[in-house]
Parts: sequence; C-alpha cells; structure tokens
Amino acid sequence: MEIDIATIGGYEEVGRQMTAVRAGDDIVVFDMGLNLSKVLIHDNVETERMHSLDLIDMGAIPDDRVMSDLDGEVQAIVPTHGHLDHIGAISKLAHRYDAPVVATPFTIELIKQQIESEEKFGVGNDLVKMDPGESMEIGNGLDLEFVNVTHSIIDAINPVLHTPEGSIIYGLDKRMDHTPVIGDPIDMDRFAEIAREGEGVLCYIEDCTNAGRKGRTPSEQHARNHVKDVLYSMEDYDGGIVATTFSSQIARVTSLVEFAKDIGRQPVLLGRSMEKYSGTAERLDFVDFPDDLGMFGHRQSVDRTFKRIMNDGKENFLPIVTGHQGEPRAMLTRMGRGETPYQLDEGDKVIFSARVIPEPTNEGQRYQSEQLLGMQGARIYDDVHVSGHLSQEGHYEMLQTLQPHHVVPAHNDLEHLARYIDLAEDQGYELGRDIHASRNGNVISLVE
Ligand SMILES: [Zn+2]
Repeated sequence: MEIDIATIGGYEEVGRQMTAVRAGDDIVVFDMGLNLSKVLIHDNVETERMHSLDLIDMGAIPDDRVMSDLDGEVQAIVPTHGHLDHIGAISKLAHRYDAPVVATPFTIELIKQQIESEEKFGVGNDLVKMDPGESMEIGNGLDLEFVNVTHSIIDAINPVLHTPEGSIIYGLDKRMDHTPVIGDPIDMDRFAEIAREGEGVLCYIEDCTNAGRKGRTPSEQHARNHVKDVLYSMEDYDGGIVATTFSSQIARVTSLVEFAKDIGRQPVLLGRSMEKYSGTAERLDFVDFPDDLGMFGHRQSVDRTFKRIMNDGKENFLPIVTGHQGEPRAMLTRMGRGETPYQLDEGDKVIFSARVIPEPTNEGQRYQSEQLLGMQGARIYDDVHVSGHLSQEGHYEMLQTLQPHHVVPAHNDLEHLARYIDLAEDQGYELGRDIHASRNGNVISLVE
C-alpha cells in the first residue's frame, strides 16, 4: 500500500497545524489549526467573517491546496485536542471535504461552538465523538485509534492510523504525565503494544516545541503544588489577589479555585474564554466546580462582579481572569489600564500561572501589561506553571518505546525541528534517511 505524508501547516511555525496521511486510496487529515498571532497582529480582524483564501494569504490557516496532489479520498478530519492551533481552521476548511470530523467529546464540543460562530461558511460535516482508548474502521482496511495522552487541555489524544504497512502515529501535543490533576495518565502501555503489533510503527510525527529543553517536563501535579504554595503564602494578606492562566487549562483553573477556597477567598472566573472553557468542561462533567463558583464572560456582568467585589471587600475574593499573555483586550490588561471597577493597591498580588509564549508580540504585550500592573503597585508572581509539551527525556522515551521506522518532526520552525533532529540522530536515526525535515506544503512518500 502506498503511504504519503503531506506536511501542510505547522512545519514553519507554531500554529496552523495540519498534516494529511494517504494510505492507498484513503486520506486522513490530522488537525486544522489557526495561527492566532497572524490574526492578532492586525487590528480588528474578525476571522468569523473572513474567507479561507484571505486567511491562507495571511498565514493564519493552513494552505491546504497541496491536498489536490494526493490521490485519494479524505475519510476523516481528526483534531487531536481543543487548542486553537489544532482546531481553529476547521470552520474555514472542513466544508471542502466530504468527511466527518472525529475527535474526543470535549474537543468536539469546542468545534461545535466554533462552527456556530462562523459567519462565512456553512460547515455541515458530521461531528463524531470517539473516546480515548477507542478505535473505528476507516476507508479500506484501515483503523483509527485514539491513545490517551496528557497535555495542557483535557481530553487530548494521539491518533494512530493502523495500515497494512505499519501504524502511523500523529504525536502532537503531549507531555508524559503519570499524575495528571484531571483525567487518566498517558497510556504508555498502549504505545508499547502498538510498537510490537504487526509491522510496528511505520512513522511517528512528533511535536518538537521543547526539543531544546533538557530533562523532563514535570507533571501537572507539580504546577498544582506551586499554585498551592503561592496561594497559601498569601493566606494572611488582606488586600487584592488576582490570578490568570490559560482559559483552556482546566486542571490549573481547578487548582486555583480549590486553593482560593482553602485560604478563605471566593474564586470567580472572569472573561469570555474563561467562561467558555470552564463552562463547557463543567457541562460535560469533566470537573465538578463548587456550586457558588461564578463564571462571567460578558463585559457588563464582569463589571457588575468587579463592583460587587469592591463593595464586599476584595480581600474576600480571588478573581481568575484572562490576560496571561498581556493580550490588549483581555481582562487583566484592562485591569492594568484601570478600565474596570477593580482597583489595585500597593502590594496587591498578581499570579501569572502561565509562561510567556516566546514570541516577540507576546513578550512585548506581556511586558506592557506587567508595567501597567506594576505602576498601580501590584506585585508579580511569574511562571507558576509547567509546560504541556515533552522535553528531551520524554522524546527519548517515546522513540525507545515506539521504535518508529520513520520520524517526522513537526509543530515549529526549522530551528526547533533541528534540535529534534539532533536528538533523534543521537538515537541512530539519520536526516534524509529516516528522519524527514519538512516544510509547509511538502509531500513525503514513505512507501511507494
Ligand atoms: Zn496543544
């Protein structure tokens, strides 16, 4: 059976991930993501109303025109998890393919919301839920399996396409977490089994975000302890404490909520995406937040909540807000600019349970946000966080477990791909022979 891998997006940047695998006459597409930084750099761009071709020209969504070079039928579109760089282009591209979107329940719910807010295209693809650990038949003699992995968002999987030539594992994005705060640990046993089955692993496509980082990415439990340590240290503080984190990081939000309660503060989630992700996770029973946890997204209800906090005494509350990257329109940035009824005073604490995404726009915006907060007297607690991506030791362990015949590094620019290539060459692989460095828009023929 002929096997091709089309590296469509996310091979020159972090964002707009998209990879297609052709096995015989059947094609499976993994991820259709958005590169948000290409959108945010323009003022007032509303992607909901934009045409795909304009977004492709901006570099915001994958240029899927290379799909016409693949000789087969798309049988499924399979996003790995609900981060925007993996699902954000589905509302712009999926309707061009007569195929269902297959993903885990939380991811499907986020996709549904995105399709509902899409204004340019009618996206009528079937949305099919499949849980981690399950499989389905795809096309002619292929099997699609979801292996449970751990990442900075719940319900993440690595899809495996089983073909007669061996399995193809799409390994974006994960860390090796054996003690996640929500959900099951990464299923390393299943990865080891897959490596021993049939022809073994024909190809492993890997996320090399942290391939330059030594050691091991810690468990979410580590971040949870860090959050606990920071909040407990503030137990006697009788002023304002504000926390921010990735809205989609439900495990982290849970830890912040829990330890706020422990120190006698009422947590409250503020900002549109805080309400969206936490509300969705609660509705789908991934978390059981306290009944009195408020979640407010709309500007008016947020401002009303801030007024109530100021009236009742801000020492009784822990607002958990959007704005960890200093996004100009996010809640924390507005607080820094003094645009909300919440008043920061000398000595108030701001906890960033996130790291700055190392990209000049983010770094600049975050710098500005911290300056604004600092001018009002706020004290910054930075980097109360662990990454969601494998570091070097995790990469070694995956290669040892899977013993793939071919490796394709993904999810970054050439500089980061090169670090992964160095690491894989240490393990006996060779660039051009069985490691394939690719760019957006290329097709790698694995079996001819
Ligand atoms: Zn991700």
